[in-house]
Amino acid sequence: MNPTYSHMPVTVFEVMSGLARQFGAVNLGQGFPEAPGPLDIRQCAADAVLNGSNQYPPMRGLVVLRQAVAEHYGRLHALDLNADTEITVTSGATEALAAALLALITPGDEVILIQPLYDAYLPLVLRAGGVPRLVQLKPPHWSLAKHDLEAAITPRTRLVVLNNPLNPAGKVFDRQDLAVLAEACVAHDLIAVSDEVWEHVVFDGLAHTPLMSLPGMRDRTVKIGSAGKMFGLTGWKVGFVCAAPALNSIIAKAHQFLAFTTAPNLQTAVAFGLGKAAEFFTDQAADLARSRDRLASGLAAAGYVSLPCQATYFLNIDLTASGIETDDETFCRRAVQEAGIAAIPVSCFYAQDPVRHLVRLCFAKSDQTLDLGLGGLVRARALF
Ligand code: PMP
Repeated sequence: MNPTYSHMPVTVFEVMSGLARQFGAVNLGQGFPEAPGPLDIRQCAADAVLNGSNQYPPMRGLVVLRQAVAEHYGRLHALDLNADTEITVTSGATEALAAALLALITPGDEVILIQPLYDAYLPLVLRAGGVPRLVQLKPPHWSLAKHDLEAAITPRTRLVVLNNPLNPAGKVFDRQDLAVLAEACVAHDLIAVSDEVWEHVVFDGLAHTPLMSLPGMRDRTVKIGSAGKMFGLTGWKVGFVCAAPALNSIIAKAHQFLAFTTAPNLQTAVAFGLGKAAEFFTDQAADLARSRDRLASGLAAAGYVSLPCQATYFLNIDLTASGIETDDETFCRRAVQEAGIAAIPVSCFYAQDPVRHLVRLCFAKSDQTLDLGLGGLVRARALF
């Protein structure tokens, strides 16, 4: 048995959702929307499963979906992706990350990981034989300091993994922030794996900037997307890799022995969804921003201090600033068991030197669920 896995805990998202079920708690932990998702996209998937092919699609994905991905990013971000040579459809962003890291890391390569980090990154880097080098971002601004980044780079560094917008921080890295990373990648000849699954879940008129669009980054960035986050259909697990042909072809070779392919009806429906006008995505984000604001004002009324949230489904409570003298894990454990509210401790997004005073809440929920969740948070506050 491989110790990477035998010693690994079950992911906190699964644990918290399990506890929420066990204790009948309101689940503001794991990041999934309560709404069923756009009806026409689901209808398209249903039609495709009844009337379309249900046999293996091409390994790199249906042509119609690869073309839709290229067209989508061309229209929204002026990227010039070739649907034949620069796109691979994967079974979710998680598989895209696995394929990219397995394909691009040679054992012994150093990989820059930026904390807080999505929990899949570290085990995947380790399994690929990579040596993680951690760079720490600090609340409330979560800025990437050039000095910290440069200090982590050595002659053995090969890759850097970025998550923008950043889960769990709800931060959007703008062009200036990204320039720090891009300049380092160009200066040290690094490949960037850019996890942009939250690209359409950006609020308050802010814009998402693909790392690939920065000078020098077009051919050294692996851009990863997820239809689950784009359309609020997280169970679908349809993702995509966009990268220059040399990178994409080797990532596709890793993908062929991971999932090989992805349900064809879901690919057809995602292709349909990607054709929607820009307003569809901004309207969806505006709805989520309303939910964010409802949760934020309810939290403030209950005496909680929360951090700014520019993107994602998540708002973070600052326990210390809220006058709660306990760590995030204790808070979350007692909250789910004794106050009927499931949340995620932000320390689980750190591999070392964790931030222990933040608790992540998912606001992609109905008003009723948010209000029930707020009731639970009022009870949780009274526990400490
Ligand atoms: N990366 C990040 C930063 C995420 O937040 C998530 C999902 N929460 C994923 C990847 C996984 O995406 P998928 O469900 O498409 O595998």
